[in-house]
Amino acid sequence: MLVLEFKVRAKKHQYTAIDEAIRTAQFVQNKCLRFWMDNEKVNKYDLNKYCRVLAHDFDFANKLNSQARQSSAERSWSAISRFYDNCKRKIPGKKGFPKFKKNCRSLEYKTTGWKLDLTTRKAITFTDKNNIGKVRLVGTYDLNFYPIESIKRVRLIRRADGYYCQFILSVDVKIDTEPANSVIGLDVGLKSFYTDQNGQKIDNPRFLRKGEKKLKRLQRRLSRKKKGSSNKRKARQRLAKAHLKISRQRKDFAVKLARCVIYSNDVIAYEDLRIKNLVKNHCLAKSINDAAWYQFREWIEYLGKKHGKITVALPPHYTSQKCSNCGEIVKKSLSTRTHICACGCHLDRDENAARNILKIGLSTAGHSGTRLQDSLNALGEDTATLKCDPTAVSRRIGKRTSGAVLSKQVTSVNKESPITA
Ligand SMILES: [Zn+2]
Repeated sequence: MLVLEFKVRAKKHQYTAIDEAIRTAQFVQNKCLRFWMDNEKVNKYDLNKYCRVLAHDFDFANKLNSQARQSSAERSWSAISRFYDNCKRKIPGKKGFPKFKKNCRSLEYKTTGWKLDLTTRKAITFTDKNNIGKVRLVGTYDLNFYPIESIKRVRLIRRADGYYCQFILSVDVKIDTEPANSVIGLDVGLKSFYTDQNGQKIDNPRFLRKGEKKLKRLQRRLSRKKKGSSNKRKARQRLAKAHLKISRQRKDFAVKLARCVIYSNDVIAYEDLRIKNLVKNHCLAKSINDAAWYQFREWIEYLGKKHGKITVALPPHYTSQKCSNCGEIVKKSLSTRTHICACGCHLDRDENAARNILKIGLSTAGHSGTRLQDSLNALGEDTATLKCDPTAVSRRIGKRTSGAVLSKQVTSVNKESPITA
């Protein structure tokens, strides 16, 4: 899977038509959810059938391409099935009951309802009755490089600074890479972005602090504006753009760093931290950091697959408390920055954790992975080992791979990879 994104250039009435189409898609999605709530034993196919009923009952729903309606129903179903999944696995806390969408920002076509400009492939025409028409695609990617049949999905997205069009291609990207003869264990920290087993630290990106300040200021300004005024609208726009900028910086940082790590290592072990597992706190920079870490991890897994490297996510258990030298548990609070053990081991706290992570990671990657799987199941957590491009995967597919799939992948990568642990 490959996602190519273009900026959309169109006339004002076309943008309005896109908004309208997005709203219809949201309507279909919400209606499907309602249908599921009101009826018993509704499955995925019932929702797909229900789309036709909606198209019959509502004129505006009929305007939307039938496959686009279906993919809205699929979105609804992915939320429902995730909820079922969480209940079945009895994860602690909230199970994530599906919610009605209020601010849908995208719309997905499948293989019909659009037509690429065949000569240049720099324009796309939407052929359903929404009257979006022909829009120009601005971007450096070249769609001529791929066969048209490989385009499986076309997505229209609204962001704070305009409209975007994504093409999801079913292209298997696999790159042969020479072994780097190096392994790495990563420990995520509060102070630095990560620490590896040699004590090398990557600092938190500077945009965190800077961005936090800016967001706070804009948020304050927004709340001072009068409700419903155009000044409020403008302030909201400014805040949205600032958020967008930070999210782009974050992505940039995550991708570049992930690429470095993947290129220079063969095995990458890290803790399977979930954002909800981390202590919730109100510090904004911290939450941005969490998101950056999550994204970094997704890219590590994606690139690992692409380059045939082994990535192992481990359940976080005593990695910072255990002595990496003798295995003794050395209790320490969060503020204790050094690890001092009776065996004479004297290390930086994060470095010690990274060593533990690497150790467990290597022992897991070499075997069938049952241990990892068991411990994952016991935790009731899953690891996201991505099947396609992380920028697109998280919300649309909404289906997480289970621990079993992870272990399968670890072994399969293991076979192909130049080294065997
Ligand atoms: Zn020790």
